[in-house]
Amino acid sequence: MKKSPEEKPKKAVPEEVIAGEVCPFCHEKTLVLMDTKKDIPYFGTCFLFAMDCSNCGYHKSDIETESEQEPSKIYYRDR
Ligand SMILES: [Zn+2]
Repeated sequence: MKKSPEEKPKKAVPEEVIAGEVCPFCHEKTLVLMDTKKDIPYFGTCFLFAMDCSNCGYHKSDIETESEQEPSKIYYRDR
């Protein structure tokens, strides 16, 4: 599924969805894996991963940056 830059979605829509994987907890083939790439300000291109099991409710998500950077801390102020 390829998209041109003009039709970029506003929300992170999974680019890849793999359904029917075996859940590591309930061992049913009800695990859905999702994977998407998103450009996040100050972080650059990031990969977002998630897995959800519709049978037992297991959920896990993670995020990784595409490029390696020096360790850093980013603060947000409310004004
Ligand atoms: Zn499960």
